[in-house]
Amino acid sequence: MRAVVYDEAFKVTVREVDRPKILHPDDVIVKVTTTCICGSDLHILGIVDELGPGVTLLKKGDRVVMPFNVACGRCTNCEEGRTAFCTLVNPGRRRLWVRSAGCSKIHADALRDTSRWVPTLADKLFAEYLRVPFADFNALVLPAGTAHEEDFVTLADIFPTGWHGVELSGFRPGDSIAIFGAGPVGLLAAYSAVLRGASEVYVVDRIPERLARVQDIGCTPINYTKGDAVDQILELRGGKEVDRGVDAVGYQATAADGKTEVLNSVIESLVRVVRATGGLGIQGVYLPADPGAPDSAASKGYMSFPFGKLFEKGLSIGTGQCNVKMYNRYLRDLIVSGRAKPSFVVSHNVSLDEAPNAYDKFDRRVDGYTKVLLHP
Ligand code: NAD
Repeated sequence: MRAVVYDEAFKVTVREVDRPKILHPDDVIVKVTTTCICGSDLHILGIVDELGPGVTLLKKGDRVVMPFNVACGRCTNCEEGRTAFCTLVNPGRRRLWVRSAGCSKIHADALRDTSRWVPTLADKLFAEYLRVPFADFNALVLPAGTAHEEDFVTLADIFPTGWHGVELSGFRPGDSIAIFGAGPVGLLAAYSAVLRGASEVYVVDRIPERLARVQDIGCTPINYTKGDAVDQILELRGGKEVDRGVDAVGYQATAADGKTEVLNSVIESLVRVVRATGGLGIQGVYLPADPGAPDSAASKGYMSFPFGKLFEKGLSIGTGQCNVKMYNRYLRDLIVSGRAKPSFVVSHNVSLDEAPNAYDKFDRRVDGYTKVLLHP
């Protein structure tokens, strides 16, 4: 079968590779119909093609979507819905995040049993077939057919992740919220806030195409090349801070020039813009350590922000990877009922062969590349 294979940082190629095999009784093989390039990992939607003998809830031909972070469904964290912190597939929470193609990619090398993990960019990222571990738990069954294909693929990561960012901030209906980053995650955090009854949603970025999408969903775009984002939001609100804030940027935050790295700036801004006793949802990824970075606090996974101000304001912080399984059934039903259409973030649909070029464009955020779907 054909697959996009990770060669080295900033280099992927399309090659012939072996078709995956069932390795555990609870695995299934899925024929991938749609997958997409993400700021952090793999999203997959496809049709169940082959089942291990221990799979009881799925059948051949089921249309399914899988979370980017596969989980066992039975450890203590999974039992509490915190599937991103599954202790079985991810013992000790040790993962190596590498910079590649401009995105953070999760390596499976720290896992004791990598066969329990969906392949990542380091293996065979986008392929015609994919083996899914703990399939009864991880594969969410979708309505048959091809309707909502572009919406459903967002259930693998960015829609639940955006929703989770809002959740982590302690959001309640009627709250105002500021979201930093208008990438796919930030846009879907803004969209989630709208769906959940936000009174005001401000979204900060510097890329015009992305800010235009902010406006399309009824939120207020804030272009931080035109002045300090917090000052702009406060000015629009007559000096009043917002109730909640979301970081959908992470460690790759840049200054207004789009180049200079400003690791701490988004959290600093959130501490300034959120009202006392409000909440911050940190969905952007921060690295525990970045082996590729020059020797610095950031390379050790340290960062500094005004903790004293956070304490003075009594702010709460929620953070961590999205527990996709906690939300994706409800979000699927919002899509089916027509109440949610998260595919507005999709900018390009390409074939597997076009993946290297699409990666490059997405990495440089040029030509309007926001969310790229691949169709193997
Ligand atoms: P993206 O890179 O496409 O979007 C980030 C956006 O932030 C860009 O549009 C960029 O212009 C903007 N930006 C950069 N610096 C900024 C600043 N100083 N102020 C405001 N905006 C700024 O990425 P994405 O796919 O939307 O993902 C966003 C973050 O979420 C990434 O860190 C990604 O790794 C992370 N993520 C987390 C999870 C999770 O489970 N927590 C899941 C998926 C993605």
